[in-house]
Amino acid sequence: MALMTGNQYRESLNDGREVYVDGERVTNIAEHPTFKPIIDVKARMYDLAYEPQYKEAVTARLDDGEIVSRGYKAPKTKEDLTAIRNYVETVLDDLGGVVYRVGDETIGEMWSLYDAKDKLKEIDPTYAENIEHHIDRIARKDVFHVSANTDPKGDRSKLFSGKDGGTLLHVVEENDKGIVVKGAKFETAAAYAHQAFVKPTILNWEAGEESMAPFACGFIADMGAPGLKHICRTSLGTNKDSTDYPIATKFEEIDTLLIFDHVLIPWENVLFHRSLASAAYIRSTLHRYSAFNYVLRVLRRADYLLGTALLNVEQTGLTKLQAVKEKISQLINYREGINAHLTAAVANAEVSPGGLMMPNQSLLYTGRVFALSNFPAMAHLTRELVGGQLAVTPDSTTLADPAIQKYVDTYYSVGDWSAEERGKLLYFARDLLNSSYAGHRTTFELFAQSPPFAQQMAVFNSFDAEAQREMVRKAAVLKPAVSLTSL
Ligand SMILES: Cc1cc2nc3c(=O)[nH]c(=O)nc-3n(C[C@H](O)[C@H](O)[C@H](O)COP(=O)(O)OP(=O)(O)OC[C@H]3O[C@@H](n4cnc5c(N)ncnc54)[C@H](O)[C@@H]3O)c2cc1C
Repeated sequence: MALMTGNQYRESLNDGREVYVDGERVTNIAEHPTFKPIIDVKARMYDLAYEPQYKEAVTARLDDGEIVSRGYKAPKTKEDLTAIRNYVETVLDDLGGVVYRVGDETIGEMWSLYDAKDKLKEIDPTYAENIEHHIDRIARKDVFHVSANTDPKGDRSKLFSGKDGGTLLHVVEENDKGIVVKGAKFETAAAYAHQAFVKPTILNWEAGEESMAPFACGFIADMGAPGLKHICRTSLGTNKDSTDYPIATKFEEIDTLLIFDHVLIPWENVLFHRSLASAAYIRSTLHRYSAFNYVLRVLRRADYLLGTALLNVEQTGLTKLQAVKEKISQLINYREGINAHLTAAVANAEVSPGGLMMPNQSLLYTGRVFALSNFPAMAHLTRELVGGQLAVTPDSTTLADPAIQKYVDTYYSVGDWSAEERGKLLYFARDLLNSSYAGHRTTFELFAQSPPFAQQMAVFNSFDAEAQREMVRKAAVLKPAVSLTSL
């Protein structure tokens, strides 16, 4: 069986990768305080496949009978999409928190590319073969696969300046072994993943200029490859108490600035090269599958908002007030709105150009906008319901100090809730809504798949508005020639 265990995953990270954080070159990443909590989370995910009660939900069989992670088997039926949802929910239930970039979300970008394999075959048959090979390999080897799209950008007018001058990631050399690339990408989880699908996301590829060709490349990069440097941001959970910061200390996902300093990408890992058509295609279809797994995480975040608000108002008796019930209802509307989009996206799933089953694109992309654009308002509503104690509660060590216990008990316990239990709920609420980690999460959600304007573009491009045009043509008794075909 190809499924990795948690310990095999930890050991596999000792591949000489060059990781930097807080002014230090990291030597044993699995034990380093910045990375250990999230590596433990990923290791736990690997181990779930070996536990009888989880096996059915978290694994799947390939056509030849090989057992692989459920997250890595491409969907071919609506039942497969339901099984992917069940997989994500099972994993998050066991973990007791929300993690995004743990493999199942990012594999979808490979499936999007698979859908273009016929077009790629026309350009070069080996590229199409490489895509199929890698989709199969990821599943059979159970590798932790992530995704790198975003170049750090500076002055937009100087972004694209030819083969050797550009700041965007590009090919600087081709040789008999492969392509040599130079540039940088932002990538969450790269430092503790095995490989990334690297591709461009900006530029007007349709412009079709030959000078753009060195930038139009997509490939699989080994995260331990010579010349690759992981420059990581400081963890927001390290050196914090796990009672006071119960989310940040367990689920902090570390973002990396990945530097490609003349990294050799072997030909078998090249998925497209000098192909403006492929760059344009992947740009427009990138989240066809992965948005489903992404929005499932936002649904879980909505669940945590609702649960936190409810427990807080119930402990203080505020649920008796109609105005408070109405606010809770808004949170329920939000939660169920996301749930409805996801459920309907599976019920109305569509066959993709490559023969896979993709969630209904319009319902998925409108669901993503609904989930993300309403999140800050819903978090604020939860903040309002939790009240000011969210911001003023002393930490757990202070609340446990015997010298002040009688005051703590008097002013912090309420009904069946001891001061300690109440403190724990408030610390959870703080880490969900107010801590540095909470702020970082909100920014992650805003940008990590794509910025809001690009999400709206996905909505625009996936909705077929011909029925609406036709309704108005009919109702306004318009001649066909007057139709708004350029909408
Ligand atoms: C926490 C975090 C984690 C991330 N993880 C990953 C990852 O795992 N993999 C990855 O590839 N990337 C990742 N990213 C990068 C993310 O995809 C980018 O931040 C995002 O695509 C926006 O790009 P940018 O930051 O360069 O912003 P810019 O492109 O500079 O855009 C900033 C703003 O300018 C405006 N703007 C820019 N261009 C346009 C336009 N054409 N039309 C209208 N408005 C425009 C918009 O308001 C936009 O939000 C992550 C980002 C964050 C914050």
